[in-house]
Amino acid sequence: MRLSFSEARQAAGRPVRLAGTVPAPRPVAIREVLELSPLHFDGEARWADGEVRLTGALSYRARLTCVRCLNPFTAEFHVDVEERFRPAEAALAYDPPTIGRRRGSSRKEQRSRAGGEAEATQAVDADPGVEVVAKAEIDVERVLRDLAIVHLPWAPICRPDCAGLCPTCGKDLNEGPCGCEPEAIDPRWLALRTLWDGRK
Ligand SMILES: [Zn+2]
Ligand SMILES: [Zn+2]
Repeated sequence: MRLSFSEARQAAGRPVRLAGTVPAPRPVAIREVLELSPLHFDGEARWADGEVRLTGALSYRARLTCVRCLNPFTAEFHVDVEERFRPAEAALAYDPPTIGRRRGSSRKEQRSRAGGEAEATQAVDADPGVEVVAKAEIDVERVLRDLAIVHLPWAPICRPDCAGLCPTCGKDLNEGPCGCEPEAIDPRWLALRTLWDGRK
């Protein structure tokens, strides 16, 4: 799934539909991520104000390990995609030659001439919400894969009220109490507790 800037520009403000399935990113360097489903995307790209705006819905499933109870579980993700891309100067050089450039000028000359506009371009490029693309096309698959990874939780929990494991015996407390002393206290805090009891 790729989109060239010239294709987007030629659509002249009309949306270019982008939809399909992208293979899952691999490998995922997050220990709690066991498996990722392919990524489904349904959206569009539109050329406006010198940039491409990619919008749409990204959905996928992930097999994760709960950090509290260590059980695997499956979670669904739905991400609203809203990304902006601006072609770098190099990308503009791929355009069909305009009247001003027609006199057999080499690409090198075109670049140096474009240098006069560099200041204005840099000011726009400073916008953190815009990705500047050095190539003539946007690798939409790469963008979607990056988004899928970014939206994965760093500490997945199988459900908000997951009781986790007993720190003493390791039993999964979602299955019921384990019978350990309920007030089991970390030995490092015992000295504090003695102090507290002494004040009563
Ligand atoms: Zn859990
Ligand atoms: Zn226990």
